[in-house]
Amino acid sequence: MMYAKVIVDVAAARTDKAFDYLIPEELEEMVHPGMRVMVPFGPRSIQGFVWGVTEHTELTRVKPVKEILDPSPVLTGEMLKLGEWIAEETVCFLITAYQSMVPSAIRAKPKKIIRTNVENAELPEVLKPFFEGKTEAAWDDVVQTKEAASALKEMTADGSVMVDYLLKDKTGKKMTRMVRIEGGKTDEDYSRILGAKAVKQIQVMNWISRHYADQAVPVREVQENAQVTSGVLQTLIKKGFLLEESIEAYRDPYQNRVFTESKRPSLTEQQEEALAPVQHALLEQRYEPCLLHGVTGSGKTEVYLRSIESVLKEGKEAIVLVPEISLTPQMVERFKARFGSEVAVLHSALSSGEKYDEWRKIHRREVKVAVGARSAVFAPFSNLGLLIIDEEHEGSYKQEDHPRYHARQVALWRGRWHSCPVLMGSATPSLESYARASRNVYRLLEMPRRVNEAVMPEVEVMDMREELKKGNRSAFSEQLLEKMQDRLEKKEQIVLFLNRRGYSTFVMCRSCGYTPSCPHCEITLTYHHTGRKLKCHYCGYGEPLMQTCPDCGSEHIRFFGTGTQKVEEEITRLLPEADVIRMDVDTTSRKGSHEKLLDSFRKGEADILLGTQMIAKGLDFPKITLVGVLAADTMLHLPDFRASERTFQLLTQVSGRAGRDKLPGEVIVQTYTPEHYSIQHAKRHDFHSFAREEMAQRKRGGYPPYFYLTLITVAHEDAAKVMKTAARIADHLRKQVSPEARILGPTVSPIARIKDRYRYQCMIKYKNEPELIRILNDLNAQYQKEMAEENLTISIDMEPQMFM
Ligand code: ADP
Ligand code: ZN
Ligand code: ZN
Repeated sequence: MMYAKVIVDVAAARTDKAFDYLIPEELEEMVHPGMRVMVPFGPRSIQGFVWGVTEHTELTRVKPVKEILDPSPVLTGEMLKLGEWIAEETVCFLITAYQSMVPSAIRAKPKKIIRTNVENAELPEVLKPFFEGKTEAAWDDVVQTKEAASALKEMTADGSVMVDYLLKDKTGKKMTRMVRIEGGKTDEDYSRILGAKAVKQIQVMNWISRHYADQAVPVREVQENAQVTSGVLQTLIKKGFLLEESIEAYRDPYQNRVFTESKRPSLTEQQEEALAPVQHALLEQRYEPCLLHGVTGSGKTEVYLRSIESVLKEGKEAIVLVPEISLTPQMVERFKARFGSEVAVLHSALSSGEKYDEWRKIHRREVKVAVGARSAVFAPFSNLGLLIIDEEHEGSYKQEDHPRYHARQVALWRGRWHSCPVLMGSATPSLESYARASRNVYRLLEMPRRVNEAVMPEVEVMDMREELKKGNRSAFSEQLLEKMQDRLEKKEQIVLFLNRRGYSTFVMCRSCGYTPSCPHCEITLTYHHTGRKLKCHYCGYGEPLMQTCPDCGSEHIRFFGTGTQKVEEEITRLLPEADVIRMDVDTTSRKGSHEKLLDSFRKGEADILLGTQMIAKGLDFPKITLVGVLAADTMLHLPDFRASERTFQLLTQVSGRAGRDKLPGEVIVQTYTPEHYSIQHAKRHDFHSFAREEMAQRKRGGYPPYFYLTLITVAHEDAAKVMKTAARIADHLRKQVSPEARILGPTVSPIARIKDRYRYQCMIKYKNEPELIRILNDLNAQYQKEMAEENLTISIDMEPQMFM
């Protein structure tokens, strides 16, 4: 007897383990770890992942596996292990981790179809009845008997049949209708049998026999070339002159684009030096995490491309992670141009069917490079030689929903598993990574100069307090407006950057730049409209909103934040002759609009590109000579200990857009706090000084990388219940953790209510807490009943990137 150990699709503590099921005899040879199956569970049938197959069970009564859902495992052995690790590290259920690794198109429960690649006569007797007169059969029908199932298994193994999912319309595979000539007839036969009047039909047959004598041709191509309607083809099929078939067409989102093979530049000296250690680790099959710190325009991408070339030469595979936002056509193009059809691209703009197609190319070993956003880290390669994480500091590598994994951590895990290098690149590495590189946990590779001696742009910081004194209340300083006019005259392009995050949530004195912050946490206080109070989201400290500035007595104290739309109106008023393209969530929500707007700007159809953080990265347009940051402070005062770091990163990225070609670039940063170290170091393009100062801040405040954080958020419709539960959890944790750890809160979450549910949070700060995972898992289990029955949510976020 064989048994399958199955992780069932019920995300709950009591089901977070493998259940044993009997494998029916007819399925015995077909069930493998990593496949999904249907199993009886209580009164229902549910999905589950086969986690292992064994000959023993402790149970006396075992129910049978009902059905196999996958023709081949969707999770490799490595993935099964990786899922266990993710479940453990992020405190989520195993099933949640596994589900997140499978493309959504096949998560449902698609039927399966078998296609033969051989003549029916060549099929084993036991399979013939299923294929009478057809090239396809339903998998479910065939696997009813052990004989048929094992014949099928053999045929699959030698490639004479193929099993695949039968996906529904939109998410399904795109099929191309084809026809081929039913052999043995000549031109004369056609006219004789079809009759001289069937001019069109004869024309079709002649055309096909001339061009596609023994090959299938797409119906559309026949129609276009022989100038006939589909009716004519239908008649020929009915008369038995043509055979109809469908073949799968991959939906290639880049199919109509031509990728010109880029000239492979010879590497600069600093690129050579950065590349060498990666290549060594690859050749020696050694796990080696490398942090590539290279200024904007230093040629990091070329280093990625070269290291992938080496990987391919070794016959291995590579994964390249880029933030969703910078997965622009420009970026993809560089990989496609170099590696052509060896590349699969995975990003969120693809339909789930398109994503599935790309995933399947990887699954079937048809490509060797996967480029994609966060979830591409799960690309099911089995012979990885390299993982690359571009812009490794990006917060979006952390998934904000279950499972709350960080793609960087997963990449490092896979690098260890495959004994290969992991290359993390950035112009502004995260302090966590930089600290590790400084301690030689990662190897630090530096590229401090731009390619081709291009100079970093001049950055000027405008003090907006002075503007206010002059009576200028607009979004533009005089200086910026003058420079904009100048560029409009010269027909050069301008990028204006406005951060929408932090809209109206913090308070600032417009006369002196004073921003109230928490006396205990070194964090900006957040304004709450209800009660007109200022609150700290880390420790709960609160105070009433002041009427005048405690520093200078000014009454110009107000909430902060301006919308892109408002700025656009202002530009129209001040510079009526300028053409503006606005890019924000409102103008880019439709599929493809992001690309279209950028394309139009690249073609010079507008003078000014105004946008939110989505325009901060990846733009490589030669005519941009002026970049304006309208309000550098919006991010600086977010209630987040990474506020200074994010500001520095953003200013660096944004100014990296200017002067990338022959025309020199200029950057204007408008701020109410020009003296802030984030702004001052960004002005001088000095990451190292910034990092030194920021590290000191983190040490003082007890934040990463000196301490680890865990954020626990409690949500429920009943505010009192949320408060009570959060308080109980905080008390419980205080008793459980070591004396070195600190529990902050509970306090109301920065977003105090979402969808009518109130939210409270508490935070654990710790250095070394080996028991913490167990404590948190216990906590989860303890509240299971309440979570399942009363709609209470307790979310646990290890090393959070967001504090909302
Ligand atoms: P980064 O990713 O570090 O910002 P890129 O890789 O985009 O930098 O390189 C900046 C520009 O320099 C690109 O236009 C790229 O094609 C070019 N480039 C990179 N390496 C070289 C090289 N070795 N020789 C000439 N041009 C290069
Ligand atoms: Zn003031
Ligand atoms: Zn505080």
